[in-house]
Amino acid sequence: MPVARRPAWPWFTNLVTAVTSVARGMAATLRTWVRTHQAGKQTFTEEFEYPELGAPVAARYRGYHRFDLTTCIACDQCAKACPVDCIYIGKERAEGAKGFRVTGYSIDYTKCMFCALCVEPCPVDCIFMGATHDLSSYTRDGAVVDFSRLPLEVAWGKATLNPTAVAASKAVAAPVDGGPNVVRI
Ligand code: SF4
Ligand code: SF4
Repeated sequence: MPVARRPAWPWFTNLVTAVTSVARGMAATLRTWVRTHQAGKQTFTEEFEYPELGAPVAARYRGYHRFDLTTCIACDQCAKACPVDCIYIGKERAEGAKGFRVTGYSIDYTKCMFCALCVEPCPVDCIFMGATHDLSSYTRDGAVVDFSRLPLEVAWGKATLNPTAVAASKAVAAPVDGGPNVVRI
């Protein structure tokens, strides 16, 4: 019984596809090389000196949060809105005043998915998504950030959250701002 011969055109189609794919990949590499290594311009790592200097991010980038302890009224709206329950707020009744004193404001970044749903309901605009895009640590505990123990300028800075400050905050016993301005409702 004669064996049917397979047509040759699929072989040529695959060959053309392979050559085209390689060419497109090489073109992308060449474009990036020209953009980052042309005469008079430094390479990416020379230009941005990462990690000492952070890489620029888009204006509405959703990085690690910014939090202003002096404005927070401990209303729990952000924690209720969080779909993964990774915001933990500590509070106590303020003596001689209305409302609560914030005693802790932690976010567990092993669970956070940077959805920004916690930002929208805040009635006093004291939590935003920041521009910090990395926070490396040797333990999982390093990924749990208590913003109330961080220096205010670090917690509220656009891109100032860093592993050193977070590690130092673990040794701070009380919120950095325990004054009467925490309670205003
Ligand atoms: S960004 Fe999303 S997951 Fe992260 S703390 Fe806010 S609401 Fe929760
Ligand atoms: S950050 Fe805003 S929403 Fe969350 S507890 Fe404080 S005031 Fe309420």
